[in-house]
Amino acid sequence: MQASYISYHLDLKHPFAIAKFSRTSTPLLLLRLRYEQTEGYGEASMVPYMGESYESATAFLSKVDWSCLTYPFNFPEIIAYLDSLAAGHPAIKAAIDIALNDLNGKLQQKPCYQIYGADPLKMPVTSYTIGIDSPEVIREKVADAAGFKVLKVKLGRDNDKELISTVRSLTNLPLYVDANQGWDNRKKAIDMIYWLHDQGVVLIEQPMNKADTEGNAWLTGRSPIPILADEAVQRLSDLEQIKGAYHGINIKLMKSAGMYEAHQMILKARSYGMKILIGCMSETSCASLAAAALAPLCDWADLDGPWLTKNNPFTTPEFQEGKYQLKDLPGLGLEGIKIDLFGS
Ligand code: MG
Repeated sequence: MQASYISYHLDLKHPFAIAKFSRTSTPLLLLRLRYEQTEGYGEASMVPYMGESYESATAFLSKVDWSCLTYPFNFPEIIAYLDSLAAGHPAIKAAIDIALNDLNGKLQQKPCYQIYGADPLKMPVTSYTIGIDSPEVIREKVADAAGFKVLKVKLGRDNDKELISTVRSLTNLPLYVDANQGWDNRKKAIDMIYWLHDQGVVLIEQPMNKADTEGNAWLTGRSPIPILADEAVQRLSDLEQIKGAYHGINIKLMKSAGMYEAHQMILKARSYGMKILIGCMSETSCASLAAAALAPLCDWADLDGPWLTKNNPFTTPEFQEGKYQLKDLPGLGLEGIKIDLFGS
């Protein structure tokens, strides 16, 4: 196995603001693994608040003994091996896992979704995210969302109702709300949730601080719409602690260390009777297609990464009726890979 990688800055169409910060680009590491004559592609998207960087990612890669990764890939052993090298680092572990899954599909001549038993006909619609912004920019963003059937609105500051009212003056589409831990008062939060429900909001992500399991559980017990954990759940081992405190979870490959463990999380969450949203960070078509391969196994999808960025280096995924259209291509189905991107 040969590994090559590059640093890439993914520029956002609009500066991205959520409850706690704002930024204009996201550092990525794009990874290519070559096994005999076959190449697999992976991606680490390192949003600053998750604590990884290009430097930490390359330091992690330098510890990997690539000769250990032989086909057929034993994913449980590979993830355990990567975890044995260092705790944390879920994004760079995801890059390795995604590239191996792409290779795995290509070597088996099967699409990744087929290997995971996901039926493309069960693909949920993907939401388009509207970050916190001025009414003028929100107008622009809602116009950008043409073709999407659901919008996801970031809340968690003091003008939440104004923001929703602005969006509602422009569209009747169903809305997801992500409070990004921005609400700190249970009573106010439940009143807000009822108001949002009346506004056509169909789910709420991470209303209160991730550490406040009890507060989030209190809301879950009273909310007329599903309450999902995002920041409160990263990997499979976190699920046990938040079971019962939320109606469901938001799985992201950059948190779960990739596709294999995300699939394990889907199975575990289902066994707990939980709902599942599959989401993304700022990502190119590479990690987005990896998540889309699992999306038919989930209730909702928020995989808008390729449409929120200006310089996706790959072909934009096929998208119709608000949904990814998974192609009958081996591996991730990633297209438009420029030969010079990684060198020869
Ligand atoms: Mg979220």
